[in-house]
Order: sequence, then structure tokens, then C-alpha cells
Amino acid sequence: MVVDPEAPLEGDDEPAADREPEPAEDELRFDASLRPEALTDYVGQESIRETLGIAIRAALERGDVLDHVLLCGPPGLGKTSLAQIIAREMGVRCRKTQGPAVDRGGDLAAILSDLEAGDVLFIDEIHGLPRKVEEVLYPAMEDFELDLIVGQGPTARSMRLSLKPFTLVGATTRAGMLDAPLRDRFGSTFRLEFYGEKELARILHRSASILGVDLTPEGAGEIARRSRGTPRIANRHLKRVRDFAQVEHPSRAIDAKIAAGGLELHRVDPGGLEPMDHQILLAVLDRFDGGPVGVESLAAMLGEERETLEAVYEPFLVQEGYLERTPRGRIATRRAYDHFGRAVPTGPRQGRLL
Ligand code: ADP
Repeated sequence: MVVDPEAPLEGDDEPAADREPEPAEDELRFDASLRPEALTDYVGQESIRETLGIAIRAALERGDVLDHVLLCGPPGLGKTSLAQIIAREMGVRCRKTQGPAVDRGGDLAAILSDLEAGDVLFIDEIHGLPRKVEEVLYPAMEDFELDLIVGQGPTARSMRLSLKPFTLVGATTRAGMLDAPLRDRFGSTFRLEFYGEKELARILHRSASILGVDLTPEGAGEIARRSRGTPRIANRHLKRVRDFAQVEHPSRAIDAKIAAGGLELHRVDPGGLEPMDHQILLAVLDRFDGGPVGVESLAAMLGEERETLEAVYEPFLVQEGYLERTPRGRIATRRAYDHFGRAVPTGPRQGRLL
């Protein structure tokens, strides 16, 4: 088996293979420049911060490695940032790879045997690890050991290799796709929540000061309201508004009006919905009579991957009450009809909306 220890490992700024829409290279660099570095810079997710903070302190005091941690939640909520913070707070290195990029057991074995004692191994989109690679992970997570098959055919023999203790931080946008044996091997599992407007405004003020942008509280509030509860989107909006302000309103602080103008230029509506959200909701409303429509049919109609629809777009639409996920399919809610100024149809099928 040819093992290339460097192949699947990536720097912090590499794009995620299984995550859509793919952040562009410069956007990832921008993300990295605004990443919180310590738990105290990490805004919101109070209970995760508290629990993790205690676990980190306890592990440090005992001189132990931190238990394996699983982070679940939609893209852009701060999973990668948290993994890097865990490593920094523990005073260890953070090695990063992507589940779908590790397609051979040998690749993972190489990554694992390269870890120093206490290192954090961050596997993003861990649900994308192929099953046979996942099996290499089980003894590694449980006993810090690797079971290797050396050679092929009748001369093949198995070898057990000791690893240095490490902390696996897994991140997934699709917790439901994780196999139970893998899920059960994490000492703690945290589900990241969408952020409130106040928290996003705090993140925006921090980002504005790093970028040297003059942002008023009203400007931050306006951007926060249109950010789908997601820090990555808030920062991306800030960047767009900064460009707009620089060209259209030079030497003025970014207030609510400038923020709204900049975002409208990018077709972000006052509720934070973007063109793709409109397409999804309008497809359910107009093409499928408000639903129920199966996610496969909806994805085919939109020319989008089912996984992307489920992991990237739907969580916010469901959380905000525009869309309902039911066993029979997706249904547009009253809020969706109202948003587009449509009358809610009456009749037995829509009865539940009224
Ligand atoms: P994920 O890994 O969940 O997709 P990231 O950790 O890459 O999300 O977060 C995207 C960006 O959002 C980061 O670069 C950072 O600037 C910002 N961010 C995320 N969570 C927070 C937070 N809790 N506090 C401050 N900034 C955050």
C-alpha cells in the first residue's frame, strides 16, 4: 500500500470537499483572518464554551489529552474555529483533514502515526469518511492503536501499532449520516446553534475593528439581521458592505442605510434570504403547489445536490419557519406565502397552515 503522509492533510485555508457552496480561496483567507483565537474571543454558544472550557482546564490540570469531541451544525457556525481554539488552549498542534479526502485506510494510518502526543486531529465533514477508513479510526480513538494489514494475499499479516494519545475533533454538517459506532466513540458531542442578532453584531464589531472599518451599532444590527444566524455570512456581508461604502459613500461610517444598500446590491433581502433561498421557496410554492414535495424532486428541479439543500439551505429556512420538513416532503409555511405576498390557499391540504 502506498502511503503518502502529506496527501490528505491540508492547511487551515483549504476548501471543504463536501461542503457547498464552496467558499472561494480568497473568502477562506478572509475567514482565517477573522477567526477567533481563544475561547474568550469566541462569541455565543455559551453552554458549549462553558462545558469545553471546563473540560480543557481539567485535562490540562491532570496532564491528560482532551476527550474526542464531535461538533455538529450547518456550515459557517464556527466548528473549524472551535477545533483550532481547542488546540490552542491545550497548547498543541491542530492537524486538519477532510473526511471525503481520506479515501484509503493507509492515508488515515499515516496521518495518525504522524501525530505528536496531545495533538488535535480535526476531521471536517467526518460523515464523508469511507466506511473502511472509519474502521481504522475505531481502535485509534479507543485505545490509541492501529491495526494494520501488511502485505497481500496469503502472506498478509496483521500488525498492531501504538499511537501517541491524541484528540480527535470531528465536525459534521450532517450528524444523521454518522454511523452509531463512530458517534459513540466521541467523549462529547456539541450541536452548534444559529446565532442571535446581538451575537452576530458583536462578531461584526470585532471583525470591523480587525479590518479597520468604521461600523455603527445600527449598521452592525442591519448586517446581523440579514446574516442567517451565521458568522461566516455576517463577515462576508461586512466585506461586501465595506466595498460598497468605500465606493459609494467614502469616508462615512457604515450605518444601517449604507449596510442595507450594500446588501441589496447583492440581492440579500431584509430577512437575509438570498437568491437561492428565493428559488427554493418559489419552487415549492409555484411548481409544487406549496408542497409536500420530496427533497429529491426539489433538488432535481433546482439543479442542486440533495445534500447541499439539506445541509446548507434548509436548516435556516426551517428554523425561521419558511419551510417545514415532514415525512411526506417539504411544505411551504404561511410565512413563505407572506414573504412573497402570496395568498395562502385554502383547502384540506393547506388546512394546517391556517
Ligand atoms: P465552520 O467550520 O462551522 O464552517 P468556521 O469556524 O470556519 O465555521 O467559521 C467561519 C467564520 O466565522 C470564521 O472564520 C470566524 O471568522 C467566524 N466565526 C465563527 N464562529 C464564530 C464565533 N463564535 N465568534 C466569532 N467569530 C466566529
